[in-house]
Amino acid sequence: MRILTATQTLGGFFFASNYAMNGETQQRPSLAGEHFQAIIIGGGINGVSIARECALAGRRVLLLEQSDFASGTTSRATRIIHGGLRYLEHGDIALVRESLRERERLLQAHNHLVRRMDFVLALPRHSGIGRSALAIRTGLWLYRRLAPAEQHAPKMERKTLEAALDHGAQLQFFSYGDAQCEYPERLTAEWLAEAISNGAAIRNHAKALTVTIRNGVACGALVSDLLTGEEYEVTADWVINATGPWVDGINQRSQSHIGRLIGGVRGSHLIFNRIPAGARALVEGHAALYTEATDGRPIFAIPWAGQLLFGTTEVAQDQNDDPAKVQPTAEEIEYLLASARRLFGSEQLSLADVHYAYSGIRPLPYAPAESMAAITRNHLLHDHAGEGIANYISVVGGKLTTAGHLGRQCARKIGCDVAEPALAVVASEPDGGLDSAQSNWAKSIAAMSGLSEEQVQAIADWHGPRALCVIRAAQKDALMRKPIIAGSNHLLAEAFEAVHFECAIKLGDILLRRTPIALGVDWNERATDEAALNIGKALGWDEKRIAVEAEAFEIERAAFLRKVEVHAAKS
Ligand SMILES: Cc1cc2nc3c(=O)[nH]c(=O)nc-3n(C[C@H](O)[C@H](O)[C@H](O)COP(=O)(O)OP(=O)(O)OC[C@H]3O[C@@H](n4cnc5c(N)ncnc54)[C@H](O)[C@@H]3O)c2cc1C
Repeated sequence: MRILTATQTLGGFFFASNYAMNGETQQRPSLAGEHFQAIIIGGGINGVSIARECALAGRRVLLLEQSDFASGTTSRATRIIHGGLRYLEHGDIALVRESLRERERLLQAHNHLVRRMDFVLALPRHSGIGRSALAIRTGLWLYRRLAPAEQHAPKMERKTLEAALDHGAQLQFFSYGDAQCEYPERLTAEWLAEAISNGAAIRNHAKALTVTIRNGVACGALVSDLLTGEEYEVTADWVINATGPWVDGINQRSQSHIGRLIGGVRGSHLIFNRIPAGARALVEGHAALYTEATDGRPIFAIPWAGQLLFGTTEVAQDQNDDPAKVQPTAEEIEYLLASARRLFGSEQLSLADVHYAYSGIRPLPYAPAESMAAITRNHLLHDHAGEGIANYISVVGGKLTTAGHLGRQCARKIGCDVAEPALAVVASEPDGGLDSAQSNWAKSIAAMSGLSEEQVQAIADWHGPRALCVIRAAQKDALMRKPIIAGSNHLLAEAFEAVHFECAIKLGDILLRRTPIALGVDWNERATDEAALNIGKALGWDEKRIAVEAEAFEIERAAFLRKVEVHAAKS
């Protein structure tokens, strides 16, 4: 079956009529009537991880994403790669052990994106939560013991932080180690590129309308291509619903008797573009703070993208709300601001320091009888065979940290032969060892390529093993050597690579998720126009497309990274 429909979105309308003009349709042929061994619906970190594992195991898979890869919950997280210290309080030792193992795997396999980070636990002496210093020390001891690798020695000068924060709150301080992935969008893009190079068919901006279920077996999906306007059917041996907070929506559209699986919990963050004096020690020591909000809930303050990420909240999300439109309420903003001011002092932070705020929905298992904090953060692979639908799996919950494990488990469940990757035994690195090796590498590549050392370093930080391909593309062509915007160390070659190897199509795919410079502290509308023009020239877009891309990007940016003054005033 092949039906052509008019697309409803402005972008869809534009692309339906202009997409072919740039000769790009050859790169996106119709998949109508094709058969796959598995269709994975949802291109967040979990769906991409599943597609990658299945493709590596030699399966012919199709990955469908209605918007862009990592544009959902994956880009709205706190971005910590952690064992989950607080899961210990709920006695979930197996989850902590699994998460710590996955943390080490990510640190080894993606050390350009996932970095060790010191965490300082700062708890009021009289918090009323009832944790004694002894209980906390015992918990931290257990956390270290459960980790498969030795912790590195903290680099942070903790005394400076303690002095900066101790304004009457009578905090007690403890240290432990975890990790940060500043850009899970990049991690997702790398896994995506691996899936593609192992034969996976990939479609972003393509929505699965329903899962096809015949005679009690899931056997395909009806897809709407939001770029070309085409609607078509594809068939498959297995269908995996990895749509995070959207899981119930597609299940119910496909078969009304499937029960509710997701109990969405909204989490919001504030991003301060001015680092308060109390947090400078964190930035200098590449450390994060784990503390209590005004109501005693756990909360993080983390240096991120040259700013301070502060969050999160936990609010039950109405099942009928569209997860794509989630945003922080005025109450959440006030709560976060009050908690930050209590920590850093009210003279240090105000609403004017909030660059933007964003929200995401944790797709936790539906458990109406439990408190939100107590609901497991473990993922489930829900097999619908129990409801009379064979070969259909819904993914429930999960964390960035454990997405790799989830992908392997799911691939095994559909019959792929996937082993758990061994953890290498790594000798602890001498202080500054890796940093100085990297800086020597950057120096020599800079000397050979004509790029600056800072540019080489910035490209290596985001592209890891593919950095040399980006640098080679820049070396060959003066246009590709140009920065995306004046003063940035990120080059047009990265935008070009994003389109050709990481399936980026729209300006937002490039600037928010493949080369996410628009998340940074200085981005504004002028930067958007400049980037659209430069990227457009490099990719051969005509004037009309450049204008439409810039406009659509500003709409997407404003919907994701909310300006709090406007928002708070409205609520
Ligand atoms: C506030 C917050 C903080 C968090 N902090 C951390 C943290 O610090 N560390 C950590 O490890 N984890 C953290 N998490 C958890 C982690 O972010 C999520 O568990 C993870 O990103 C979920 O990924 P996913 O792929 O399942 O879902 P998503 O990233 O939401 O991906 C689902 C995708 O499916 C697509 N989709 C939906 N419907 C369709 C359809 N019909 N057709 C095609 N595509 C469709 C969506 O567009 C979306 O891109 C946090 C989560 C939240 C909300």
